[in-house]
Amino acid sequence: GSTVDVDPGVEIDEENAEDDLLGGLQVDSTDDIEVPDRLVDQVIGQDEARDIIIKAAKQRRHVMMIGSPGTGKSMLAKAMSQLLPQEDLQDVLVYHNPDDGNAPKVRTVPAGKGEQIIDAHKEEARKRNQMRSILMWIIIAVVIVYALLAANILLGILAAGIIWLIFRYTSRGTDAMVPNMIVDNGDQRQAPFEDATGAHAGALLGDVRHDPFQSGGMETPSHDRVEPGSIHKSNKGVLFVDEINTLDIRTQQKLMTAIQEGEFAITGQSERSSGAMVQTEPVPCDFVMIAAGNLDAMENMHPALRNRVKGYGYEVYMDDTIEDTPEMRRKYARFVAQEVERDGRLPHFTDDAVEELILEAKRRSGRKNHLTLHFRSLGGLVRVAGDIARAEDREYTTRDDVLQAKQRSRSIEQQLADDYIERRKDYELQVTEEAVEGRVNGLAVMGEDSGIMLPVMAEIAPAQGGGQVIATGKLQEMAEESVQNVSAIIKKFSDVDLSEKDIHIQFVQAGQQGVDGDSASITVATAVISALEDIPIDQSVAMTGSLSVRGDVLPVGGVTHKIEAAAKAGCDTVIIPKANEQDVMIEDEYEEMVDIIPCSNISEVLDVALEGEPKKDSLVDRLKQITGTALDRQQPV
Ligand code: ADP
Repeated sequence: GSTVDVDPGVEIDEENAEDDLLGGLQVDSTDDIEVPDRLVDQVIGQDEARDIIIKAAKQRRHVMMIGSPGTGKSMLAKAMSQLLPQEDLQDVLVYHNPDDGNAPKVRTVPAGKGEQIIDAHKEEARKRNQMRSILMWIIIAVVIVYALLAANILLGILAAGIIWLIFRYTSRGTDAMVPNMIVDNGDQRQAPFEDATGAHAGALLGDVRHDPFQSGGMETPSHDRVEPGSIHKSNKGVLFVDEINTLDIRTQQKLMTAIQEGEFAITGQSERSSGAMVQTEPVPCDFVMIAAGNLDAMENMHPALRNRVKGYGYEVYMDDTIEDTPEMRRKYARFVAQEVERDGRLPHFTDDAVEELILEAKRRSGRKNHLTLHFRSLGGLVRVAGDIARAEDREYTTRDDVLQAKQRSRSIEQQLADDYIERRKDYELQVTEEAVEGRVNGLAVMGEDSGIMLPVMAEIAPAQGGGQVIATGKLQEMAEESVQNVSAIIKKFSDVDLSEKDIHIQFVQAGQQGVDGDSASITVATAVISALEDIPIDQSVAMTGSLSVRGDVLPVGGVTHKIEAAAKAGCDTVIIPKANEQDVMIEDEYEEMVDIIPCSNISEVLDVALEGEPKKDSLVDRLKQITGTALDRQQPV
């Protein structure tokens, strides 16, 4: 592929590039950064997809792009249209068929020629009409002169009127001579790009309009009612269809026929309209298709259509993140410049405003040393920040604007979570000073990008019958599983027979608000052990992690958001799975607020969370002996 570096005119401080958020780029604002002309050179990351687009453009192959929204699929499709040759563009004309009015004829001519043909036909029609009017006025004049001679003026005027009417209502026939240009590439400087995402059958495959006056001189000739579909307008260019699986199966089938034949006749799509009686000769539709969607789309796509694309083209998966290197950071700075230019009204960004955006890209990647490739939402942030600066008529968008924009463009879930914390403050459900038996600050994720603190309480009571686990709400299943896992461990070090106890587990304030509890099993285990052994839990600690039967702490999702939620709620220590250590990317403001303690075993978790030596120490010691590798020895698998 062709890699294009950031503007060579801009100085790069290679020495300090590694540590610099701008990758050593020496600029004051994005105004200093040059944006490449070709769209394909503006694409950041997605090297594989880009190479494929370039290759497919040369070979005119179809491409299937699978990946998250906003990672550049439509951008790449548009870029491809710029790479296709423009010399073979065509105009398409539909003519009246004198033999069969419902079967219009189709003619394809080189781009630009269509307009000449139309003009010539119009000129001819005009001339013909002119001749007709001259002829008409001559006849009328003759009739009137004749009437004057015969001294019968009334009869003369009547005859003239009749002649005028006859001419007027037969003139429609000449309109039929002018063809209808349904594809006009006369002014087209590059191969066409058509986005047919969510298009209905008519918009995709072409249509013939209904004619309310089907006869009697008022009707519109059928060839004039023919309308092209995206497949025809993208002839010799690119047809982009996102969410391809949402097209209904019949339409997918027709689309496949169109791809196979390279031409597709236009007919009325609505069965009850007069347009359905009309069918044109085949209209060319020699396009390159770029079908896009998420993984789901691939499964629900018509198998034959998918095979067609696969057999005659490429499939590519879009990346969600990319490794964070100085070169990449420089490209992200260019991304800001690109978005500012594309919008056209936003003030350019200062260097530290760009740095803040790059930090956000790091954070959103959810992976250490990576940057997110979800550019649409990042672009949204650029626009919101730019708008703030623009509203105040400032020359540049600053770091403060970006921070404010981030606050404003919080997702619904984030707003809800923040609101939650606010409300909870009112009820003093926040962190308490004292250690409490059986109560653990769990952490959960709401939506995609917000964490929330979710206290869990366990209470042990003698069983009424066989012991059971009783949990509130939807989290019953998860609670049962965590208790099962922890009971294997408890059996080893405690005399208490859990099968004779009822364990009540309450998730304090776990609303219906889409809290996902699947990763709370160390929380439940800690609460149960604390309640069972009467050892209190430090309430300034919050935790997240999944528990295995062997006592290992397994990784979970969303640690960054969870840690931030704990910090916001006032905790000062957060326990996370050791395996998630790599994923922590909290914002600076939180970094000073909390200690993050990675743990790989439940005994380590309890060591941090429980209070009150010597009881605690003895418990942790016993646990250490029986969990993890120790457990392996006793329980050969
Ligand atoms: P998709 O089709 O994958 O949903 P788009 O191509 O419509 O995403 O991306 C939306 C916008 O985000 C683009 O118009 C562009 O401004 C920006 N964008 C997306 N991906 C990239 C990328 N890889 N490099 C640069 N800008 C991008």
